[in-house]
This record gives sequence, C-alpha cells and structure tokens, in this order.
Amino acid sequence: MKRFKLAVNLIRSSKHLVVVSGAGVSVESGIPAFRGESGLWTRFDPQKYASLDGFTKNPGRSWHLFMELLVLIAQAKPNAAHHDLASLERCRYLKAIITQNIDGFHQLAGSQNVIEIHGTMRNLICTECKQRLSSRGMIFDSEDLPPICPCGGILKPEALLFGESIPSKPYFKSLKQIRLADVVLLIGTSGVVHPVSEFPEIALRHGARLIEINPEESVFTRPCNTLHLKGKATTVLGELKKALTTDSKEDQ
Ligand code: NAD
Repeated sequence: MKRFKLAVNLIRSSKHLVVVSGAGVSVESGIPAFRGESGLWTRFDPQKYASLDGFTKNPGRSWHLFMELLVLIAQAKPNAAHHDLASLERCRYLKAIITQNIDGFHQLAGSQNVIEIHGTMRNLICTECKQRLSSRGMIFDSEDLPPICPCGGILKPEALLFGESIPSKPYFKSLKQIRLADVVLLIGTSGVVHPVSEFPEIALRHGARLIEINPEESVFTRPCNTLHLKGKATTVLGELKKALTTDSKEDQ
C-alpha cells in the first residue's frame, strides 16, 4: 500500500511521465507473450521463425508464426490497461508511450503519442519494392505462404525480426522521451530485448524515477531499484487511474 501511494504521488507530481510497455500489457487481451510457460516461443523457435536469417532462408515457415499473430490480433481488442493509459494521456499525466508491442492496441484504445520501437503487424512491406499495405483482413491459406507482392517480391510484416536494425526514427524519438522523463512507468516487459533493455539506465542517469507494473520481477526490478507494483496491468493501472483521476475533469 505504501508503494502504491508513493507511485501515485510520484506520478501526480511528475512533469514528464513516459510509459514503456511490453507484451504483458496485451496478455489480458488474449495475446500471449513470447517468453514464459504459455509464450509463443514454446511452439516457435525464434531463430527459425522470427529472425531475419530464418525468414530469408524460409519465408513460408516464418509466415506460419506471422499468420498466427495476425489472427490473434484480429480476434482480440485493447483491454482496460490500454484504455486507462489513453485516459491518462487525455488527463495530461502521460506524455508518451514507447511500446515494444506490434499489435497497435495502444492507438486503437485512443493513445496519440505512441512510439512503436519494434514496428507493427498492422502493415506488410514488400521486401523488393518496399511498398506498404495494410494487413487488415489479410488471411492467407498455408499453401499460399509466403504472400507475394504484385511486383513479385515477398511480403513481410512491418514488425522487426531478430537481426534487423531498429529504425533510427523511433529509436531517437524514444531516447528523447526517456531523457525528458522524470518518471518512467515500465509495464509488462521482461526487459531483455534491446534497445528497451538500455532505457531504464538512461532514465536513471537523467534523474528519473522508475515504477514498474508486472506480476513478476523483471531484469530491472532490483538493479534499477524500481518501485515495483506487483500485479496484472489491468488491475494495477485501474487502481492507479482511479487514484489519479478522482479530481480530474477528463470525463466531464
Ligand atoms: P516478454 O515476453 O519478454 O515479457 C513479458 C512480460 O510481461 C513478463 O515480464 C511478464 O511477467 C509480464 N506480464 C505477463 N502478464 C502480465 C500482465 N497481465 N500484466 C503485466 N505484465 C505481465 O515481453 P517483452 O519484454 O515485451 O519482449 C519484447 C518482445 O515481445 C517484443 O519484441 C515484442 O514485439 C514482442 N511481443 C509483442 C506482443 C504484442 O504485440 N502483443 C506479443 C508477444 C511478443
């Protein structure tokens, strides 16, 4: 309880609150994380299915994972945690969300300033002509994988594969937000994937306080001395939003 009150006070008095979100935020929407007992990596070897090397060698195989993700995302929707974050932005508590998620749910819930540092499954991009197209409603039969662009090139989701470089624009936008932040709220991320793995240290060096919402400890919890609010994103954010917006005029 003491931790929770401290977190509320930190956020209330913050000038630049930034959220860093990971797969855990969307778990309660029905999209499993990659790691952990029910994670997708228990069925799909990330090196074979989700690396640039694996995709280049056998794009049809990688597309079995991509199709599963596209179907999962199409069938799911943003949950209360996504909506509460959008609401905190409307109340001007929250300045930006840096997300590793590729499902687009923060934007669907109404968040405006979202930086997708690992790209998105909402678009496909041709590996030859670089044309982008929406993945909405795209369901391909397994015998038609990988899907092909009219130019003859192989299509790939605009989500980043292991071995691909982080595009510079979202990376530098994220760094700017992390340096500006006086409070960083880490939600549903294990913290093992680059470059988010670096952000808490950078934030600390710039004087920020770190709060973390996660049912488990992450790689940041102890080394970065985060204020760990142990629990699911929907539950903890719901309580935080209630405490923060009691006097807010947002919903009037
Ligand atoms: P991760 O799988 O490494 O870790 C997920 C974290 O979420 C864990 O620390 C876990 O304890 C926590 N968690 C589980 N349930 C939670 C809940 N209900 N509330 C709060 N936290 C919960 O995820 P990551 O750190 O985001 O790893 C990064 C990679 O996973 C990214 O590249 C991202 O693109 C990818 N990913 C994205 C999605 C998505 O877009 N929804 C889904 C799976 C994986």
